[in-house]
Amino acid sequence: MLPRIVVAGNGQLGQMLQQAGAPMQLEVMPVDPNADVQLELRADDVITVEIEHWSDSVSGLQLKQHPNFRNKVALHMVVDRQRQKSLLDRLQVPTSPWLSLEGDDLQAQLESVGERVIVKRRRGGYDGRGQWRWQKGDQPEAEWAGECIAEAMIPFSHEVSLVGARNAAGEKVFYPLTCNWHQDGILRASIAGLPIPAEQQRDAEAWLGRIMDDEGYIGVMAMECFVVDGKLLVNELAPRVHNSGHWTQEGASISQFELHLRALAGLPLITPEVSGVSVMYNLLGRNWKPEWLSVQGAHVHWYGKEIRPGRKVGHVNICRPDVPTLAESLQALGAQLDEEDSVVAEWALAQLAS
Ligand code: ATP
Ligand code: MG
Repeated sequence: MLPRIVVAGNGQLGQMLQQAGAPMQLEVMPVDPNADVQLELRADDVITVEIEHWSDSVSGLQLKQHPNFRNKVALHMVVDRQRQKSLLDRLQVPTSPWLSLEGDDLQAQLESVGERVIVKRRRGGYDGRGQWRWQKGDQPEAEWAGECIAEAMIPFSHEVSLVGARNAAGEKVFYPLTCNWHQDGILRASIAGLPIPAEQQRDAEAWLGRIMDDEGYIGVMAMECFVVDGKLLVNELAPRVHNSGHWTQEGASISQFELHLRALAGLPLITPEVSGVSVMYNLLGRNWKPEWLSVQGAHVHWYGKEIRPGRKVGHVNICRPDVPTLAESLQALGAQLDEEDSVVAEWALAQLAS
């Protein structure tokens, strides 16, 4: 008998976990952890998360206190950037130079990190929110003390991420590194299935594997990295399914959502196969456009959320057997009238050419 998987959070990630469970008749129930209602949880439910922060509401406490709440330790370590960076240091996983901002003399602390610094709120930031850019000469904000870490600005050539999973037996599987394009701190698009230097893949798997083992982690975890002179530097961890893994829905034999459920439910964990090349791009604050479906290999995932400027309301995966066919699809996408689609097509075509 498979357990029911209860997801703390009822956004798009919970929705896509539910979709992945359906073919296996694996019940996935996303719930709002901020609601003040008594949930009808069963003793054999398995609790997982799609968000990292919620209030001590009635539902929230009930979820946290359930005996099968998974990855408590990992969440504790990762939700706070200071603890997360300390974990990376302790496990000797390379990350950007950083410190915790404390006390009065912020100027000197910031200068010791570098000439250009990113200040990040320790808790609660996402999609680039809760971050400030500081450079020598700028006035620091007093309220950063005790609340933020400061990180050196990294002159990366590009960004990649690794999505992997671990089960209770300690078995681990990984997808190939995905190349990501962020703008204003928000993920615009990802591309996967292009050749990746073997050394980068090997390092990334070793580090994420070490982190998951250390935390006794069960399920999917993502690791975002900067690439500097061909070497990886870890930016941050996400203890859940991740936006940069959305391409796996049609671009891999097992999606990240199914992989997460397999690990949690104790189902076989095998390495997902990737045969073609995929582009995923986020639909930010836009309306549903039937034209997306005229592009060969395109799959639309619409979240059904209220449309607000810049908000992630869906994504499109374009999966093709190889680079030339993917380039054809991107050209077809770029030829559409919408500026947003053609900008993504341009970026992805440049990746295919490089
Ligand atoms: P997410 O939506 O992934 O949760 P986030 O808000 O938690 O994002 P980060 O991943 O820390 O924030 O930063 C968002 C983006 O800002 C990064 O992907 C990168 O493009 C840029 N960035 C963050 N830290 C640095 C840094 N130290 N040097 C250069 N760029 C950075
Ligand atoms: Mg990030």
